Amino acid sequence: MKHKKPAMPITSTNNSKLLVLGKFFPLEVKRKGKKYELALEKEKIRIRIPESVKRRNLEYDYLRKWLRIHLAGILDEFIATHTKNMGVYVNKIHIKNQKTRWASCSSNHNVNFNIQLVALPRFLIEYIVIHELAHMTHKNHSRKFWQLVQKFCPHYKRRRQELRRYSLALRENKMWGRITPI
Ligand SMILES: [Zn+2]
Repeated sequence: MKHKKPAMPITSTNNSKLLVLGKFFPLEVKRKGKKYELALEKEKIRIRIPESVKRRNLEYDYLRKWLRIHLAGILDEFIATHTKNMGVYVNKIHIKNQKTRWASCSSNHNVNFNIQLVALPRFLIEYIVIHELAHMTHKNHSRKFWQLVQKFCPHYKRRRQELRRYSLALRENKMWGRITPI
C-alpha cells in the first residue's frame, strides 16, 4: 500500500487551526438554528450550536465528543481488518485523554487509545493499531515483535519517524490544548 508523504512542514502559524487527520482545519463556529451540527469539510470544520445555548466554549466539548466518535469509527475499521490478518482478538477499546502515550494494551486484550490519535493521518493511526495488535502476541519490543510489525506494516520505521514529527506538531497546536485541557 502506497501513501503520499505528508506535506512539509507539519506546523501551522495559525493558532486557531486544529490538526485533524494530518491536516490543519480552521473552525467555523456559528450559533444559529436549533440543532447541533458538525461537519469535517474539505477546508474547514463547520460547527453549528443552537442559538438558545449560551454557554461559552461549548464548541470544544462538542468537538471533543465528535472527534472521539470519529476516531472510534476509524479504529474499528482498522482493528477489524488487522485482527483478522494477524490472527489476534481485541476485547474492548477505550479512547482516553492520555498525555504521553498513543496507545497501550492490557493482558486481557483491552486496548486504550489516546484521543489525540485523530490528529494523525490515517496511515499512522493504522500503524498504531498494528503496533498494539502485535503486542497481543509479544508483550515487549523485542526483535520478534518488530518482525511481526514489519510483516503487516513494511514501512514501520518511516511511520515511527513521522509519528515523532506529528507529536511535535501536536504539542505546538494550541487548539488541541483547548480540546484536551490539562
Ligand atoms: Zn509498543
